[in-house]
Parts: sequence; C-alpha cells; structure tokens
Amino acid sequence: MAADMNARVDSLAVRLGPSICVLADDGRCFLVDVSPDIKEQENRLLTIPAYAKRKPGNPFDGVLLTHAHMGHYAGLVHFGREAANCRKLPVWCTDRMAEFLSNNAPWDQLVSLGNIKLHSAGETIEPWHGLRVRAIPVPHRGEYTDTIGISIDEKLLYVPDIDNWDAWPAAREEVAKHEVCLLDATFYSREELPGRDLGEISHPFITDTIETFADLAKDRRIILTHFNHSNPVCDPGGKEARSVIAAGFELAQEMLAIRF
Ligand SMILES: [Zn+2]
Ligand SMILES: [Zn+2]
Repeated sequence: MAADMNARVDSLAVRLGPSICVLADDGRCFLVDVSPDIKEQENRLLTIPAYAKRKPGNPFDGVLLTHAHMGHYAGLVHFGREAANCRKLPVWCTDRMAEFLSNNAPWDQLVSLGNIKLHSAGETIEPWHGLRVRAIPVPHRGEYTDTIGISIDEKLLYVPDIDNWDAWPAAREEVAKHEVCLLDATFYSREELPGRDLGEISHPFITDTIETFADLAKDRRIILTHFNHSNPVCDPGGKEARSVIAAGFELAQEMLAIRF
C-alpha cells in the first residue's frame, strides 16, 4: 500500500495484500483494490497525518477494483453493515465485475443495503476533480471477471496482475508513457515452481520482465510488486533481489510512498 514510510519498520517485514491508494494532502483517499488485509492497511494509513485527519464516515472517498481474484476484492466484507457500515461508497469496476458483485452472495448485500455504489470504470474516471484514472484492460485468467490495470494522471501505471507481457500488445507503449510503473512480479523464474504446469501460472516471471523492459527502466522508475510467498526477491539480501536492483528496477516495499 502506498503511504508514508513512518510506521515501525519491524511490522513492515510482513507483506500484506496488493493495494495502492492516492492520498491528497487534505485527506481525500482513493483506494485501488481492497485486499483481505484492508483493516491492517487502514491502521497503517492512520499513522499518516493527512489520512488521520479524515472526518468519521466512509474510510475512503472511492475504490477501484481491478478484478475478482480473492486478494484484490475480498476485503470488501469490512465495508458491510457488521463492520464499517459504509454509506454509498463509490466502487468503480468493469461491467463484468459489477455483474459479479451484484449477483453473488455475500457481495450482493453490500449493493442492496447501499454500503457500496457500483460505477462503471469505463475508460476514464474522476474520483475527485483533477484526479484522472484510466482503466486499461489487460489479459489475465478470467474465471469470474475481466481484469484492468490503471493509469493515474498518466504518471503512474499500476498492473498488479497480467498473464504475460507478450499477450498485451500495448505493454511497451504504456510503460513508456509513464514516469512510474508498478508491475506484476508474482514469480521470479521458472525454477521457483518445479512440477507446476506453466499454463496454470498466469504471471510473467521477473526474469522476463527485466528482459522486456530493461531499456525503458533507464529513464523511468519500474517498481516490481505483487510477490508470491515463494518469490526469492522477498529476501532483500538475496542474490535475486540484488540482480533486480542491478538491472535498474526497484522492489516495492510495504508503505512505499511515491510523490507527484
Ligand atoms: Zn489475479
Ligand atoms: Zn493478484
């Protein structure tokens, strides 16, 4: 989760679910994906003065969901009537995702009780005046819904899940357009997954990502994120993590803050 680096470092060694947020100086906060760890992520946000000064009410001004894999939306349960009891919290997502949430328990209750209000992510949304978020369809295994990445103000690209870079014709063009790119880095290499069918593993390997974008990493920040627990880059002193840094890429840390 993007935020200030002022929380205790020891509690940050544990990696939480994938999520980023845009936090304005006046406390407005736009969340991208609601991971099962949202409660802890909210606690961490409260350590940031801008977020802490929010008035009681919905914990966020708006939410965007990239797709319906558990790690990216299951935290919505915390917005229901037994928990935060949000009131008409705006939730942007694809039409398929909206249909999924509206027609499947327990998510449909969030909609029928008015805890959340679904909006089509369409092409570009404006969670508040001056903040523009562009939805970018990306190929990713779609058991329940399709998947989007996002561009925030055409400065930051966030693609937490994608099958592979070759399956997305706009990959290089989109990365080249942005100053900062946060990209899917679930697995490091094939060797990490002995005996697994590669067809089931719908993520690019870090080794492939480095090969694909090495030239573009020279004049923009490419930050790798969404690490599986098996990923050796989670050990910051390991040779894999060092090779990523040596190639000019970065590894996302908990509470990573990016300022524009
Ligand atoms: Zn996914
Ligand atoms: Zn994911």
